[in-house]
Amino acid sequence: MGHHSPSDFNISTQITQLGRDTSRQAGFVNAPIYRGSTVVFPTVDDLEHNRAEFNYGTMGTPTIASLENAWSVLAGAAGTVLSPSGLGAISLALLTTLKAGDHLLMPDSVYRPTRNFCAGMLAKMGIETTYYDPLIGAEIASLFRANTTTLFLESPGSQSFEIQDVPAMTQAAKKQGIATIIDNTWATPIFFRAHEHGCDLSLEAGTKYLGGHSDLLMGLVSANDAWWPRLRKTYDLMAMLPGAEDCFLALRGLRTMHLRLKEAEQRGLEMAHWLQARPEVLRVLHPALPECPGHEIWKRDFTGSSGLFSLVLKPEFTKAGGANMLDHMRIFAMGYSWGGFESLIIPFNCADYRTATSWQPGGLTLRIQMGLEDMDDLKNDLAAGFDRLRAVR
Ligand SMILES: *Cc1c(COP(=O)(O)O)cnc(C)c1O
Repeated sequence: MGHHSPSDFNISTQITQLGRDTSRQAGFVNAPIYRGSTVVFPTVDDLEHNRAEFNYGTMGTPTIASLENAWSVLAGAAGTVLSPSGLGAISLALLTTLKAGDHLLMPDSVYRPTRNFCAGMLAKMGIETTYYDPLIGAEIASLFRANTTTLFLESPGSQSFEIQDVPAMTQAAKKQGIATIIDNTWATPIFFRAHEHGCDLSLEAGTKYLGGHSDLLMGLVSANDAWWPRLRKTYDLMAMLPGAEDCFLALRGLRTMHLRLKEAEQRGLEMAHWLQARPEVLRVLHPALPECPGHEIWKRDFTGSSGLFSLVLKPEFTKAGGANMLDHMRIFAMGYSWGGFESLIIPFNCADYRTATSWQPGGLTLRIQMGLEDMDDLKNDLAAGFDRLRAVR
């Protein structure tokens, strides 16, 4: 449908045009929502030859195709499939590249539910997972085995924000014919060009910055030329599709994603610097700051930073002090997920689940998602929280 071929326009122009075609929408700017299971064929000949733009609801609809095509252009991919959640996209990508008896490499900093999928689902299929230090770089080759078929990457790491040397790692994998999958949710294709950096499959929890309003769940997996037919086949075999309403909302989110990411970047940087100067804070784990592991690689490979980062409190603060801080915030709410318009804060502890590396940040750790509230209001909320933190020693 419509403008889904790459154009010579800049990305901010392209995202206003992708996945819609006014000539097929009675002139209206936005495409309608197509719902449906059955598609009818006019003749027996058409039916027998499967001659139709869409032949059944599980194979997609114009609404689904609009979002898939728009994302492929944005991601610089050969094709994209959707999933009803980011976690669904992770399973779709892994089930595309893995078979029984294979060996898989996972960064120790990976999104925790990805770890659960490996232990709870892939292990049942006889697929063994080895966790590796996310900062291993080209040394990843020392972990390759004869049956290693997939190298998974996530950069920055969930909660801990290590930036991985993606080009060095995908190059090492390519030499051995190992497929690479990246969870690119934090950067999105706007700040990190995963396929151009060598990744075969790239996935996005559209739940975050694509949706942008904390009101939908969505996953997207894009593939390069080599992997696209196999990704599409896996998707068609399972028919795990998002609902039409959510695809419409994701396309709506796409129109402003560039703008929201640029705003999230500015706000994230301003708050990260403000926090660095606070006496309660030991370290800020933000890829754009030199104290974040892999910062030099971020500078080399990324074109921006989004509005999610972590901070480490000084060692003298206790868990009870942290609870006194977080229980009474007026703006920053506690909740998982991120990428919406509202600010969030959560405590976390990577030591609860890491197996290949030790997590010793030096103090309690908090993750912050920057929303669109007034910056002074946000700083005042955190400053009052730090007062409550200091009150309990
Ligand atoms: C949130 C998240 C996911 C999963 O997305 P859901 O839609 O919540 O299932 C995957 N990867 C990362 C890095 C995430 O932050």
